[in-house]
Amino acid sequence: MLRIAIQNKGRLGEESLGLLGRIGIEIDTTKRKYLAKASNLPIEMLNLRDDDIPQVVADNVAQLGIVGLNEVEEKGYDVTVVTRLCFGHCRLSLAIPKNEEYNGLKYFRGKRIATSYPNILNRFFKEKGIEIRTVVIAGSVEITPSAGMADAIFDIVSSGGTLVSNGLKEVETVLESEAVLIAYPTLTDENKRLLEEIKFRIESDSISRNKKYLLMNIPNDSLEKAIEILPSMRSPTIIPLAADGWSSIHSVVNSSELWDKVRQLKAIGAEGILVLSVDKIIL
Ligand code: ATP
Ligand code: MG
Repeated sequence: MLRIAIQNKGRLGEESLGLLGRIGIEIDTTKRKYLAKASNLPIEMLNLRDDDIPQVVADNVAQLGIVGLNEVEEKGYDVTVVTRLCFGHCRLSLAIPKNEEYNGLKYFRGKRIATSYPNILNRFFKEKGIEIRTVVIAGSVEITPSAGMADAIFDIVSSGGTLVSNGLKEVETVLESEAVLIAYPTLTDENKRLLEEIKFRIESDSISRNKKYLLMNIPNDSLEKAIEILPSMRSPTIIPLAADGWSSIHSVVNSSELWDKVRQLKAIGAEGILVLSVDKIIL
């Protein structure tokens, strides 16, 4: 049996469950029990607070976990980071009152820095050879400078809006974080095989997530131009239509480029353009 620990709610819970579903681990999530078995694989899901996930994986209570890299780095337990998962993006940054002049890291020498991530903070400044004073606080870190509790903060930032509304400015990024898959370092052979299969499925899922399948009809004399516009996995598929002088062309494109490609294809005479979601891509 392989147990995967995920956040029971919070910012990573839904996405973690969604990922497990997309890679074919069938778990009845209608009743959110703290421990739930998959119906089709020897896998169990353990729902926990995110803070506890690195420890349960280090202790082999769960063999895998999905948690923010920030928590993994802060807790410092012996776990293997298997892969980044492309969700839960945020960064751990240093921020100071917006009217202060910032002259590089030496600004922080002797300053009181409030944070919920004292280990990452102290490791960072130790490496830089700069002495700081750490004020450990569990939450509402961003209010500490205006409350006179600290001179600066070290906290999670995603859009930066919270900093601005508290009169702060971000001056250094220390860690770029996202959700990661972590593993107990010495798995049994059976669980190693299961982890390989999970990794393979996660990779297929992440490749397909940002892709669209595009098909359209195109006059034959525009085919060459269309092939240039549509670099595909190998090359686009071209199928002759029953109507003379026309073909159907199929290809896979990055979602970010979709509208640009559609505009270019329409300009060379493409008609009946269909855009479909891609479920899985197996390379
Ligand atoms: P729990 O009750 O499970 O302890 P929490 O309140 O500690 O939850 P969340 O706010 O749900 O944690 O955040 C979980 C993780 O989501 C963070 O550790 C971080 O990796 C990631 N994350 C992404 N964006 C943000 C953000 N804007 N603020 C906080 N965390 C974020
Ligand atoms: Mg937490």
